[in-house]
Amino acid sequence: MTTHNPQTLAWQALSGEHHLAPFSDYKQLKEKGPRIITKAHGVHLWDSEGNKILDGMAGLWCVAIGYGRDELADAASQQMRELPYYNLFFQTAHPPALELAKVVAEVAPEGMSHVFFTGSGSEGNDTVLRLVRHYWTLKGQPQKKVVISRLNGYHGSTVAGASLGGMSGMHEQGDLPIPGIVHIAQPYWFGEGGDMSPDEFGIWAADQLEQKILELGVDQVAAFIAEPIQGAGGVIIPPDSYWPRIKEILARYDILFVADEVICGFGRTGEWFGSDYYGLKPDLMTIAKGLTSGYIPMGGVIVRNEVVKVINEGGDFNHGFTYSGHPVAAAVALENIRILRDEKIIERVKSKTAPYLQKRLRELAEHPLVGEVRGLGMLGAIELVADKQTRQRHEGLGVGMICRQFCFDNGLIMRAVGDTMIIAPPLVISFAEIDELIEKARLCLDLTLEAING
Ligand code: PMP
Repeated sequence: MTTHNPQTLAWQALSGEHHLAPFSDYKQLKEKGPRIITKAHGVHLWDSEGNKILDGMAGLWCVAIGYGRDELADAASQQMRELPYYNLFFQTAHPPALELAKVVAEVAPEGMSHVFFTGSGSEGNDTVLRLVRHYWTLKGQPQKKVVISRLNGYHGSTVAGASLGGMSGMHEQGDLPIPGIVHIAQPYWFGEGGDMSPDEFGIWAADQLEQKILELGVDQVAAFIAEPIQGAGGVIIPPDSYWPRIKEILARYDILFVADEVICGFGRTGEWFGSDYYGLKPDLMTIAKGLTSGYIPMGGVIVRNEVVKVINEGGDFNHGFTYSGHPVAAAVALENIRILRDEKIIERVKSKTAPYLQKRLRELAEHPLVGEVRGLGMLGAIELVADKQTRQRHEGLGVGMICRQFCFDNGLIMRAVGDTMIIAPPLVISFAEIDELIEKARLCLDLTLEAING
């Protein structure tokens, strides 16, 4: 962004001189400099120019309870004074991690009462890969190693996370995926459904899993991993037929099912987990983000009791992180979950604010630039097209990025995934703030249309 504010310019200079940013176009960043976010409260951010911005993405899908909750700062400060660090390796533990494990088990689906803590969602999925292979080895089937995942799924940015994910741009930069990970089609009807109805396409996409299991041989397949709703891929809500068909297929074959709940977990769908929303029965669930509302890094893997039983017989599990179950992160997570529960935030999402957001979001479907609006809970996607009927895009114009820039300049953060605009606001967003979000989004769609026609 261009500015004459000396403080902003000084920070932007530091960015160019010293910082290597995650997921950024380095050339562009060097030319324009980053927007500097300096403070936040509730669902709003402020930048170094004094602009107030509605955060339609809850940071990176994580700030569930909103910004500025002193209780979390107090929990961190108290824990730092009491026990700022100790590890959970080699037969030691500390109260915050153990108490958090119990609370996570209370909100997790029935029969999933153990959790392995990590520092992030990516580390969670690295742990998944290690755990599922360890499990099958202990079960006397060490050849069951392959994990089936989906194209355009997102499972993190470590080597295992990016391999499990199906993002071609990430695979290209690092010779990924690593061996033993294969990808099948995603259930993205709007983008890939062709002439099929959404339900026909959902069945087709689910059947790709069965075909892949049969092609590889079930004796080679360790697990299937999927987000209940793909987030980073573009808020892809599978057709209604998809998950029931996947459940039928999983019931036929002896493989583990991993639900990556990093985005869907902790209330985003109006249930505690996306698996609750769809009635899935995962063997493992990856968590992060909403676990601490992003106030401090933490992730983990929640594991079904039958799997734990096998692992418990297995002696050493040679895996862990210095910051697994970090006491300060655990104390913050405990306070975050207490707030989610005591303030009935997820119940309010389900019965009040999500229905309102979804109703208002769908009003944007009338806009000439919009081919589809979809959403569920506190998630939404707006597909930008040239032709509503054929779902044809404005090829090569970068309409998504144009719209994203208008949003930023008009006080709204919406993310662009290609030409799909996505939102995932904090769960605590109010009715009036939903109105603000929709009106700003409409204005930015108008400005985008004007810009590409003009
Ligand atoms: N899984 C999913 C579904 C995610 O959306 C993300 C992050 N966007 C991750 C894993 C990786 O989490 P992290 O960035 O904390 O490593």
